[in-house]
Amino acid sequence: MFSKGNMFLADMDEMVKRAREILKKGPLPSMVDWATAFSLWPVHLMTSCCGCEIGAAWGPRFDNERYGSLPWVSPRQTNLIIVEGTVTRKMGCSVRITWEQMPYPKFAIAMGVCALDGGLFYNSYNIIRPWQVIPIDIYIPGCPPRPEAVARSIVELQRKIREEGVASGWLADGERQDLKNIIPKEDLCSWRGEDVDLSTRYS
Ligand code: SF4
Repeated sequence: MFSKGNMFLADMDEMVKRAREILKKGPLPSMVDWATAFSLWPVHLMTSCCGCEIGAAWGPRFDNERYGSLPWVSPRQTNLIIVEGTVTRKMGCSVRITWEQMPYPKFAIAMGVCALDGGLFYNSYNIIRPWQVIPIDIYIPGCPPRPEAVARSIVELQRKIREEGVASGWLADGERQDLKNIIPKEDLCSWRGEDVDLSTRYS
């Protein structure tokens, strides 16, 4: 026989299942996509010098907030991560852990030519590409990209969310469907040693 607490959890599972079914039909998916597109809260992960331009992009002159995006400080309350520049092998582990802490539906922008193909460090032994670490939705070229290019990436991501319905789709499925190319976390974080707990805290 269920205790009261277990019955509540059993009901919750059923409620989540039914909510996901509802999310796949009717006008709700487009409403979810519309609301998500204009509620992007980017957390910026300053892996390199590109991060300087983020301050300008959301500052008073270029004011990216007018597009419906508000920079936030904690990955646990955000739905967009901006990886700013070079990702070294050691930073790859931190990028993955940060991304895993974000709730669905979540998106990623890779900023700067270093994040595209390595840029200045193209052949360096200790560089990996962001798309090997997390699934990337939008790339911003440039060294560094100008604030207008950052604004363009936000608008492009909004267009992608609304036209392709990705937010409601991932919410209904519980995860993204494009995770096949990324490196397993154990390999990314192997330099930290076998005894380190790699579970995402508070998840
Ligand atoms: S693209 Fe240019 S500004 Fe951005 S991280 Fe690379 S070297 Fe720095």
